[in-house]
Amino acid sequence: MQLPMPDERERADLLAEVVAHTTPAMLAWCVEHQLCRYLIQGDAHGDIVEIVAPPVMLLGPGASDVYACPDPDVMGYPEHRLAEMTLVDYHIFLVRYLSQAVAANKVSCLVCKQPITNDPGEPWDGIFVDKELVGWLMIHFDCKRGLAREYKGRHPFELRPQAPPRYDVSQDVAIS
Ligand SMILES: [Zn+2]
Repeated sequence: MQLPMPDERERADLLAEVVAHTTPAMLAWCVEHQLCRYLIQGDAHGDIVEIVAPPVMLLGPGASDVYACPDPDVMGYPEHRLAEMTLVDYHIFLVRYLSQAVAANKVSCLVCKQPITNDPGEPWDGIFVDKELVGWLMIHFDCKRGLAREYKGRHPFELRPQAPPRYDVSQDVAIS
């Protein structure tokens, strides 16, 4: 993949920001499960630097809606330890986490940009995508048709994920 070569200061910032809010254990798990993307860059001195981009969560359409993936151990998830989790286990953890984010009114649809709620009349879907960008994104069930268009062009090395907010993941959200 070809990007304009950043200067050294920019590159240091990039290295720091892409992984800043992914815990070391989470990053190691993502590497092990082949969920990371890599960018190799050389500088003017001939040094080669590898930038690792872990997967992200897109909790809305904007640049400020991009979050690092939460570490279930840090969030206090009682069902499994991260080190024992399969990708399916992590999906299940994340659905619980995302349900809490929705309940806190912190999520909007990537496609129609409207708020996502736990109203059973407007179901949502947390979708895992493993393309140029790896991550989980949130849409209304009925907005699936527009998904490919909104997802295209998002590049893992141009995102600045924020720290995932802490939510109570001790039990599933009761949806009436
Ligand atoms: Zn929508």
